[in-house]
Amino acid sequence: MKETGVYPQMIFVDSHCHIDGAEFDADREEVIQRANDAGVKFMLNVGTGEPDSGNFERAVSLAEKHENIFASVGVHPHDAKTFDTEAEKRLVNLAKSSEKVIAWGEIGLDFYYDHSPREVQEEVFKRQIRIAQELNLPIIIHSRDADDKTVEILMQEYSQDNFRGGIMHCFGGSAEMARELMNIGFLISFAGNVTFKKAENLRDAARAVPLEKLLIETDCPYLAPVPMRGKRNEPSFVIHTAKFLAEFYRIGLEELAGQTTRNFLDFFKINLATEFTESNEKVKTG
Ligand SMILES: [Zn+2]
Ligand SMILES: [Zn+2]
Repeated sequence: MKETGVYPQMIFVDSHCHIDGAEFDADREEVIQRANDAGVKFMLNVGTGEPDSGNFERAVSLAEKHENIFASVGVHPHDAKTFDTEAEKRLVNLAKSSEKVIAWGEIGLDFYYDHSPREVQEEVFKRQIRIAQELNLPIIIHSRDADDKTVEILMQEYSQDNFRGGIMHCFGGSAEMARELMNIGFLISFAGNVTFKKAENLRDAARAVPLEKLLIETDCPYLAPVPMRGKRNEPSFVIHTAKFLAEFYRIGLEELAGQTTRNFLDFFKINLATEFTESNEKVKTG
């Protein structure tokens, strides 16, 4: 295979990106085009920021505008202190307003930055898990320096009805944590940092994740994978992470692309209305 970095015959998914943000204001459409050209045919754009920032509305309208972009809404642990009943109403209505909103998140705990008090983060995390259940949406989890607490809360909520599982995004936990979460319906998504030289702990965890539970993401604009490290990240770069993981698992890139794409489409019950080809990209949410 020629190493062009472009694989139009394969289909990749970037399961977690933030291309609605200001970092992409100057060239958003080109970034999306580059992703499409590279074979990254599906993107889940995760809305973040304060609930009344307008960010979430922007994320959803971006998804409405592009057939192959989906959106999620939910309050990040950084902004947990801004979550109140007003915010809840606003985001629930937004989620209900579009079929392109396929998940609630990112939600969770971030005890590394502590931008919101920990008790507030925990309370808002639990509340949002319930909201997702009421809306019958999977959740996207962000956990940093808070893995024990994250697992504890998820285990509690798992016993509730209607728990649909979700995606553990930018996974940075242990193999043990990955196993526990896979058992209660989570897919494990690796970002560009799995390619970093010193990320042996992430690769230890990746060894515990079978292909059927694996997703790949950019989390762009952050965490560009090697060899793009340090640059602004974008969805087309997810292919570098895919290549790295394919080598790591000792499988072909085609297999890794195919399986992670299937995992994503199956998990979110996204039906391809027609055979997927370059010229015919009809996608229907189911
Ligand atoms: Zn995150
Ligand atoms: Zn994110």
